[in-house]
Amino acid sequence: MSTVISVVVPLYNEELVISEMYRRLKEVLDKCASDRYEIILIDDGSHDGTLNLAKDLCDQDANVKLLSFSRNFGHQIAITAGMDRAIGDAIVIIDADLQDPPDVIPEMMEKWRNGYQVVYGIRLSRKGESWFKRFTAAAFYRILKKVTSVEIPVDTGDFRLIDKKVLREFNQMREQARFVRGMVSWVGYRQGEIYYSRNERWAGETKYPFRKMLKFAIDGMLSFSHIPLKLSSAFGLLSAVFSFFMIAYGLIIKYFFPAHAIPGWASLFSAILFIGGVQLFCLGVIGEYIGRMYEELKKRPLYIINEEINFK
Ligand code: UDP
Ligand code: MG
Repeated sequence: MSTVISVVVPLYNEELVISEMYRRLKEVLDKCASDRYEIILIDDGSHDGTLNLAKDLCDQDANVKLLSFSRNFGHQIAITAGMDRAIGDAIVIIDADLQDPPDVIPEMMEKWRNGYQVVYGIRLSRKGESWFKRFTAAAFYRILKKVTSVEIPVDTGDFRLIDKKVLREFNQMREQARFVRGMVSWVGYRQGEIYYSRNERWAGETKYPFRKMLKFAIDGMLSFSHIPLKLSSAFGLLSAVFSFFMIAYGLIIKYFFPAHAIPGWASLFSAILFIGGVQLFCLGVIGEYIGRMYEELKKRPLYIINEEINFK
């Protein structure tokens, strides 16, 4: 019995890479000759030629399927849509820009056949990315590991292969703030890694400006940890203790050393500022969680599909 492989590729303004990506993917998938495959492209509201090029691919090759969104919903949602529709026994998630090399897919499949339900790629090196991105990413994954109880491996992206069993569970998780790599870890089963070096983008520019990266990082942190909330109570406690000592100090000076008692507006002022700052900070942290709760409560669909091609 031959297995079916699904490959999920999110696309946002990727007209420069889509043809090359298809060529390289097909080359690799054709080599795994005993396997049937589908390539699911998700056009995440691109406003360049991506959609038309994707449609051309669908015309040429019935194994290529396309979902196009009504607008840009973001990378993590695009992956989710692809996963919702994947029918393979194993599902591979890969970036369109060839930073994740398709050549390691056979290695992932090998590992999957040997009994792993999730095979994720660990980035040995990251070529063509700024030191700022590399540094912040490295720091983020390490902090996240410290503050969450879910085993989220460091230095992995969404480039991974997952078994249909894992997919079935994953697809039950309909949260809005999606941190796919963490959610896959959460599902469990036997998870293993392979190593690869991350190439430079084939062409074009990153579709993850700083703003999107920051949102993504905060989503990951807040979806997988309550440490920020605990941290704010710790801050509150600390400032309460601090102000208690300040009050004691003030009283002692006033009653025991009245000669030294100067009108202490400066210390008062700084104490008020300090406490005010801590309070605002804690409110902000709580607000982040409440905002996310509100998003979840609305129960809006995760995405809206404008068009789908080659799905049966
Ligand atoms: N992407 C997407 N929607 C977005 C941003 C990105 O579907 O809003 C896709 C993009 O086309 C690519 C993948 O997500 O296939 C990763 O994006 P990119 O390579 O720009 O991110 P980077 O590698 O720079 O972090
Ligand atoms: Mg990239």
